[in-house]
Amino acid sequence: MSNIKITILGSGAAPGVPSVGLGWGECNPNNPKNVRTRTGTYLEFGTTKLLIDTSPDIRSQMLKHQIGAIAGILYTHSHSDHIGGMDDMRELNRLTHENVNIYCTKATYKGIEQRFDYLLNHSKEVRNVILMPSLYPNIIENYSDFTINNVDIKPIKMTGHSVETNGFIFNQGQIVYLADFKSIDEEVYKQIKTRPELLIIPCTNKHGCTFHPSFDVVKDIINKINPKQAIINHMAIENDYDFINENTDERTFPAYDGMVIEI
Ligand SMILES: [Zn+2]
Repeated sequence: MSNIKITILGSGAAPGVPSVGLGWGECNPNNPKNVRTRTGTYLEFGTTKLLIDTSPDIRSQMLKHQIGAIAGILYTHSHSDHIGGMDDMRELNRLTHENVNIYCTKATYKGIEQRFDYLLNHSKEVRNVILMPSLYPNIIENYSDFTINNVDIKPIKMTGHSVETNGFIFNQGQIVYLADFKSIDEEVYKQIKTRPELLIIPCTNKHGCTFHPSFDVVKDIINKINPKQAIINHMAIENDYDFINENTDERTFPAYDGMVIEI
């Protein structure tokens, strides 16, 4: 099956690269792959199109990649760099005259509700989208599979970030998508039932910090999951593209904005 296409819309962490406050940091400003917008991923499983997270940069990302009607948005957690572009999803309402289905855990839902209550519509009936956005929340649970059309999705619990975060396993392990974490529970490894074709894993800061693992820990996790291909994503100014590329094994690549992976 080779009709899965994944586009990294934004490969940056919360401040993007360069950062307004701190500039380029350890990133080479002459390498265009170091210019990183905030995180977002577009997955095309044949005709089923999904987004993971909608950052404040989602509008320009959707225009650049001509993203239109989608089957749903999967949220990993309620930090601004992952949900800050939710308002722009109203354009999908205007396009389809239907609700936009969003999928999130209860904890993430609470964070979304606090900030974007006016976007949420609890009725299956779409609102008058000229006046009001209309996003329909679907509450999901860690380790409990759900499907969107032909795609099997299992949310998995990430550990040690500053808010509750989850990743996703697609099609029993074919694709594993991890979001912000400090450590990985054994249960996550157990839930990956097949050798993944692709692992997408965040490495915010190669040195590690309170809520993020170091580059060395990320490499250990890649070895343990043992995917055919690994993409290091969600990078801040400490992670130069060439540095990450040169210090990883042959199957591992740093993400960059607009990167496309086909399976
Ligand atoms: Zn983030």
